[in-house]
Amino acid sequence: MTESGTGPVAFDYLIVGAGYAGSVLAERLARAGRRVLIVDRRAHIGGNAYDCYDDAGVLIHPYGPHIFHTNSADVFAYLSQFTEWRPYQHRVLASVDGQLLPIPINLDTVNQLYGLSLTSFELEDFFASVAEPVAQVRTSEDVVVGKVGRDLYNKFFRGYTRKQWGLDPSELDASVTARVPTRTNRDGRYFADTYQAMPLHGYTRMFQNMLDSPNIKVMLNTDYREIVDVIPWRHMIYTGPVDAFFDHCYGPLPYRSLEFRHETHDVDELFPVGTVNYPNDYGYTRVSEFKHITGQRHHQTSVVYEYPRAEGDPYYPVPRPENAELYKRYEALADAEENVTFVGRLATYRYYNMDQVVAQALATFRRLESDAAAEL
Ligand SMILES: Cc1cc2nc3c(=O)[nH]c(=O)nc-3n(C[C@H](O)[C@H](O)[C@H](O)COP(=O)(O)OP(=O)(O)OC[C@H]3O[C@@H](n4cnc5c(N)ncnc54)[C@H](O)[C@@H]3O)c2cc1C
Repeated sequence: MTESGTGPVAFDYLIVGAGYAGSVLAERLARAGRRVLIVDRRAHIGGNAYDCYDDAGVLIHPYGPHIFHTNSADVFAYLSQFTEWRPYQHRVLASVDGQLLPIPINLDTVNQLYGLSLTSFELEDFFASVAEPVAQVRTSEDVVVGKVGRDLYNKFFRGYTRKQWGLDPSELDASVTARVPTRTNRDGRYFADTYQAMPLHGYTRMFQNMLDSPNIKVMLNTDYREIVDVIPWRHMIYTGPVDAFFDHCYGPLPYRSLEFRHETHDVDELFPVGTVNYPNDYGYTRVSEFKHITGQRHHQTSVVYEYPRAEGDPYYPVPRPENAELYKRYEALADAEENVTFVGRLATYRYYNMDQVVAQALATFRRLESDAAAEL
């Protein structure tokens, strides 16, 4: 694809996708004086982090619960220009053997599960006694059995991973379960990052503030292909799936999808924490209750159940070596596109959290500006 049109160029940048990657770049470029058109095929901005009020007036995340956490002071400071925050530390319980137990696995998890009263020091010895020696850690199964042994692996990880990915942990990269730590203390928080907070008025409001500039035009309900040859632009930033950009010429990259079942109940609270995982029962992996996460007070409560699916909107790149190989072929095509920059979770086929996408977009902005300066 090349620079479009021969007449006066209306936009310096055409940005495809109004999620984190596209919106951060739109904001930065507009602040630097560039004229930006940002298009999204959905009816709203914010990408998968979009939030809204449901019919009952409860603030929900239609694409599943999004919890902001980061160790990056830069990313937190950057986003703080567009939102105030509500401190929030996410807690997750796993439903195992008829009990609700803290996950990541910690001292309380093991003591409650087995009816023990170990101390932190004794828990280290316990893990050492049940861990299975793994010569070379390659898969998600290796990571867990090598740390906490087979029983905890079977109860907390195996079923969850099989549901989530449609694959056994022995078939998935080590990176998937390595994301979930194991603790010997009683820290019951899901994340241990320095900054853990939710945007005070929601994600969508934060995105609205980012895109509120006379240099930014937002076009929703529009696939970029509908306008790419009609509206003149100089450079494209693409944040959709990379394989779709190239018409799946090497075959589709595997993505895992989700189906969301949203419910509202006439009670103040349904669950004790923000998310309950179901590693071994039911078709869903987890249920999340939004009021814990957003801090909203309301006489009703809304929850979302997540059912992993093979088909549907692309949500998670599937981390397997053969998929990384296939992505490399698309990446070579992407690198050869002089007028298009690929950014974000789907365009770079990486299992990134929100803060990582913000960091990637900020780094991309610096590169684009220094390239532009070099051309002068
Ligand atoms: C269920 C779930 C839970 C998550 N929870 C967390 C969490 O708790 N914490 C966390 O940090 N991260 C979480 N994430 C990850 C987070 O959603 C992503 O890191 C982030 O949203 C990625 O931003 P992005 O801009 O790269 O992509 P997206 O948000 O996917 O935005 C891409 C946009 O491009 C648009 N688009 C694609 N193709 C086209 C086209 N042809 N024309 C026009 N528009 C197009 C799409 O409609 C979309 O809006 C979660 C993800 C999922 C799926």
